[in-house]
Amino acid sequence: MTAFFSDLIENVLFIFQRITWLSVLDILLVTAIFFIILQLIRDTQAIVLIRGALFLIVLFSILSSLEILPAFSWLIRNTLPAMILAIPVIFAPEIRRTLERLGRAGTILPTTTAVARTKGVMESVVEACDRLAQKKHGALIIFQRLDHLDQYIQSGVPLQAKVTPELLLQVFYPNTPLHDGAVIIDGETIVAAACVLPLSSSGVLTDSPDRQMGLRHRAALGISEVTDAVAVVVSEETGSIAVVDHGKMIRRIDPKRLDLILKALLQQTQEEHGLIAGWHKIQSRLGRPK
Ligand code: ATP
Ligand code: MG
Repeated sequence: MTAFFSDLIENVLFIFQRITWLSVLDILLVTAIFFIILQLIRDTQAIVLIRGALFLIVLFSILSSLEILPAFSWLIRNTLPAMILAIPVIFAPEIRRTLERLGRAGTILPTTTAVARTKGVMESVVEACDRLAQKKHGALIIFQRLDHLDQYIQSGVPLQAKVTPELLLQVFYPNTPLHDGAVIIDGETIVAAACVLPLSSSGVLTDSPDRQMGLRHRAALGISEVTDAVAVVVSEETGSIAVVDHGKMIRRIDPKRLDLILKALLQQTQEEHGLIAGWHKIQSRLGRPK
């Protein structure tokens, strides 16, 4: 045992003697990259998968290193490389999304999706939500940001109309042709209504009945998980308003708070594009409240 510890101390000292400023910088760089990646995927489905995969790898490595189980060791030695090949297949959607975002962050030229919002649009949406909530008319309103929502816009009915409270009230009036589904807003325009959004499964997995969500709330969560869009939900059952961003839902907010949250999320002092937007995204992710 003492020999083991003296060996260990010797090894540590040997490593420390060889450390230079360059290797410190090297370690810091690698740490920073891991830190940013882990922050970006925190609270997403990917982190759960990674945790599970790491647990399995550690468990299998320990078991296969025990020489009392030769057949098991052989099996693990031969299947681990195959599992590494499976990673790109399992994470294909996440990898694609990250690469798309990197590509977008790499363009310095302005893109056509304007993110500057005029006060009028948000005020119209807040007023509409207030009135819809009082009448208990269900609604789902999506604000497009940097990620294109073309695929979801195509699933609905094109509108190309200016955002006004009256139009939103009309669209979500029960039992009318457009009330089912989501409205998508790009800039100052309602581009489509009755859009079908991807459903999140996180709301159904929670145990407490209060947290279990219906389809409208799950669709709002779903779109915010796969894109950077912001969703506003008015519940038909309770008349309460919720806002969703990056897979996080703030429920039961009053119109005043909705106004503040929307302004904080959507209204940027200047149009942000390319690299700046990419950097802000990382910053906002890093500074996310726990
Ligand atoms: P509420 O509190 O308003 O009842 P909820 O979260 O309980 O909302 P449901 O009662 O299941 O949800 O709401 C159903 C409505 O949600 C549908 O009528 C439809 O308008 C909308 N909806 C359901 N699925 C989707 C989807 N994939 N994309 C967009 N809208 C959807
Ligand atoms: Mg419901």
